[in-house]
Amino acid sequence: MPYKVKCFECGREVTDGLLDSCPTCGGLLNVEMDLSPLKGKTLKDIRKAPMGVWRYAPFLPVDQKKAVSLLEGGTPLYRCLGLGEKLGIKDLRVKYEGANPTGSFKDRGMTVGVSRAVELGCKVVGCASTGNTSASLAAYAAKAGLGCVVLLPSGKVALGKLAQAMFYGAKVVSIDGNFDEALDIVRRLAKEGHLYLLNSINPFRPEGQKTVAFEILDQLDMQVPDRIVLPVGNAANIWAVYKALTELRELGWIDRMPRLVGVQASGSNPIFRAFEEGKRDFQPVDHPETVATAIRIGNPASGRKALKAIYDTDGVAVEVTDEEIIAGQKLLGRTEGIGVEPASAASIAGVMKLRQSGEISADERIVCICTGNLLKDPDTVIKNSGEILRSKADIDAVIKIIAR
Ligand SMILES: *Cc1c(COP(=O)(O)O)cnc(C)c1O
Ligand SMILES: [Zn+2]
Repeated sequence: MPYKVKCFECGREVTDGLLDSCPTCGGLLNVEMDLSPLKGKTLKDIRKAPMGVWRYAPFLPVDQKKAVSLLEGGTPLYRCLGLGEKLGIKDLRVKYEGANPTGSFKDRGMTVGVSRAVELGCKVVGCASTGNTSASLAAYAAKAGLGCVVLLPSGKVALGKLAQAMFYGAKVVSIDGNFDEALDIVRRLAKEGHLYLLNSINPFRPEGQKTVAFEILDQLDMQVPDRIVLPVGNAANIWAVYKALTELRELGWIDRMPRLVGVQASGSNPIFRAFEEGKRDFQPVDHPETVATAIRIGNPASGRKALKAIYDTDGVAVEVTDEEIIAGQKLLGRTEGIGVEPASAASIAGVMKLRQSGEISADERIVCICTGNLLKDPDTVIKNSGEILRSKADIDAVIKIIAR
């Protein structure tokens, strides 16, 4: 599909595919799709293609024929009656992104981003990551036969994610610093030509991530939910969801926008703070801390885009504590059988909080995007799931113990 890459801040068109920001003002880049080839078409026309990211190829800025794909997307949208009852919401759904090939929504952006790297002829790709981006990039780089370098904040990456990045053969560099510092370094590496940057400031990544919103609407037969709720870390995903919705509205496939709810951890909450003060810009948080390591980001690269997405949809930002996140994670698992990592559970905790405060009412249709798989972070799960019952190898001993 035809498109242009333009600066999000000053509107300048940027044609050099290796730049990650505007050469005039330093602003973030943004892909503007020309949707005219889709005019007059409907959802029915694209539904002939199988479920998954590439069903929405007409909305994506790379050629599907050359796509590097692991068959990402096509994840379940669960109707959660039990959880809805507990939270006091009649129609609550969970979009389970843990079902993607490497276990998080990052695969949606990475299939497009790595396809773009191949199109540009790049040989080495790289990123800074709180974990999932590196796991995903390592897998797609392996599939494409590219070199891969990932920079991780030392000691702060969940075990499952670290295992994946190592397993797929990436060069894993543990940085003695936090995510924000690792991102600074990898941006400089990209600028000096050592690698092609595949963090979400790469505007091709959010293009792939748009498909989570296309799929939600597709699975709901284009009936617009009242809200879509998702965790906000580096803040590209909420922008991607917003962008997808504006494209659907531009085509007339939906007639109104859902309100977007961005959920942050209270130890890592620059977007929430800016929202509380009604600002379109944010102050970075210096030492972000939260059990939800995927959103442990103090200086979100796409923060200004996230705030626009929230304000333009009459949405809200909310913060939740680590305790609320863990409670939401457990409740989702134990009422619905859905296992998600802590960052993903922030969306459940956010809904809980907004329902209690009355911001969300009982008759709304709510979709929570649960971004990553439970097994990404087994340490946190084991720490918060109670005791193992120990027994002698003897049936009477076991009977006694399970009867307690
Ligand atoms: C990356 C990630 C997020 C945050 O997404 P952003 O686009 O950085 O806001 C949330 N949850 C999980 C599981 C992630 O991997
Ligand atoms: Zn600019």
